[in-house]
Amino acid sequence: MGKILDYDEMNDILDSLDSNFIKKEKSIGYTYFGYPINYYVYGHGKYHVIITGGTHSAELISNVFVIRFMEKLSKKEVEIDENLYTIHFIPIVNPEGTIIVTSAIRSLIPRDISLEEEQTYCLTYYRNSYIEGDYANKYGNRDYKLQQMMFRHATPDILDDKHKELKEYLIDLFKKNDLPMGCMINWSSNGRGVDLNSNIESSSFIDRVSNGEKIYANLHLNNIRRDKLGPLGCPYFKKGEIEKENEALLNFYNEIKNKYDYIGSFIYHSCGNIVYYLGDAKEKNPWVNLTNEDDNYKVAKVYADEVGYKLDGLEIYTTMDSKLKSLFPITLLVELGGVRATPLSQFMDFDIGGSEKFKNVYSKIINDNIEAIVKTLDVMVNVCKKK
Ligand SMILES: [Zn+2]
Repeated sequence: MGKILDYDEMNDILDSLDSNFIKKEKSIGYTYFGYPINYYVYGHGKYHVIITGGTHSAELISNVFVIRFMEKLSKKEVEIDENLYTIHFIPIVNPEGTIIVTSAIRSLIPRDISLEEEQTYCLTYYRNSYIEGDYANKYGNRDYKLQQMMFRHATPDILDDKHKELKEYLIDLFKKNDLPMGCMINWSSNGRGVDLNSNIESSSFIDRVSNGEKIYANLHLNNIRRDKLGPLGCPYFKKGEIEKENEALLNFYNEIKNKYDYIGSFIYHSCGNIVYYLGDAKEKNPWVNLTNEDDNYKVAKVYADEVGYKLDGLEIYTTMDSKLKSLFPITLLVELGGVRATPLSQFMDFDIGGSEKFKNVYSKIINDNIEAIVKTLDVMVNVCKKK
């Protein structure tokens, strides 16, 4: 078996976890097309932590990281005191997007492929994206992209018929919005084509989109429009409407906050080796802000030092995650993996060559970040206890 997991494989692993350690709870809600947003709990301690992955489904390593972490916890390969902590896991925040992007992957890279072959696909994808990034800088053209062409047969028709409703919607959306060939591989949005992190009342894109501005993504994705429903960036389906996934997350965070002695959360994305904490805002925070900058910095620094990522307190209040972060004293947003061409680059795991950057990308992401969570939890508790 390779390192990449598709949606069904993720759920198979989650279903097989030892329920003595990790319990599946009632889902926190359902998506527009009826998929549950599953929720699991580890431990029964007084300090509560939320861990989420996969808001942007193309950032697939974030789902896989959270799931592999849960697996290690359930097998007792990682020790976190279950009498001290309760960890709430939402490993697949965006099920529809995860179905779309992993169906695209499986159209080229089957499950039963050898590890070596899987690795060469990941490397090819990374290199093709890199070439297209260069071309975008040099020529600025918005035509075919090599990394998308690898997945040009991944049209909505390849979705399994058990996803009929989603599939029919996508077939229609591809025609209506003239979405680029092969772009299912870059799918970060939910099934309706809304970017969950941009789907927030203070998104900087809302006015631009409603004014009819054409907004393109950058570099190797510069043929994708952010102002139309599609793979990434689009802030709303209907102006003012909050997507079901976000509604469920907000309700869930609020519920945990009101019920328990809450200490923090880890939100996983995967765009480039950064740990973001909520720093001193450049602009006024439009939400109730319970965050303490010093505490946040202290905790984030422990995490960043452990994994060797950059630490960044720069924050603007234009994303769903910034709203979630504001709700609690300590929340870290972690961008996994510096070799950047999602969804495949972070699954590279070569142990050759001299460059540290390309060495064991996958193993380092999984192992280092698990270590970092373990270390960071202790600091989080101490910071909170002092209050
Ligand atoms: Zn992201």
